[in-house]
Amino acid sequence: MCVFCKIVNGDIPSHKIYEDDDFIAILDIAQSTIGHALIITKKHYDNVFALPEETAGKLGALAVKLANHINGVLGAGNMNLLNNAGPLAGQTVNHFHLHLIPRYENDGMIIKFDNNKLTEAEFNDLRAKLEITKK
Ligand code: 5GP
Ligand code: ZN
Repeated sequence: MCVFCKIVNGDIPSHKIYEDDDFIAILDIAQSTIGHALIITKKHYDNVFALPEETAGKLGALAVKLANHINGVLGAGNMNLLNNAGPLAGQTVNHFHLHLIPRYENDGMIIKFDNNKLTEAEFNDLRAKLEITKK
């Protein structure tokens, strides 16, 4: 059984701040910044690619609710909501979880987005490949 399944079951202790039928939210054991929390599905899904659409919808609403709650209590006013899916993306626990990381002035955390340039033709090719219509 994976570490987050054990936490959901209560076999491993955690600092739980929220629970409903589908999710728990706990404080991350490594507080990247103060208030760093994880929303974890109660059911084991390996990562975001495996999440049922209905669960994903509930997750979105809960993420906004907890983001506002944590910001309200801690007064950060800034937050990264992050999901790592797969080892190349930095996923280390293979049970779906969303990071809520409050951000503060000079908190030392670095998230870097590279600014890779594409030609207009490359953008057009990529856009055509990725375009998707609403079902
Ligand atoms: P990932 O790298 O998979 O996106 O994030 C996994 C997160 O789970 C890390 O931030 C790590 O600190 C956290 N974590 C791993 N094991 C435990 C644990 O036993 N308890 C808690 N509260 N967090 C954990
Ligand atoms: Zn699990």
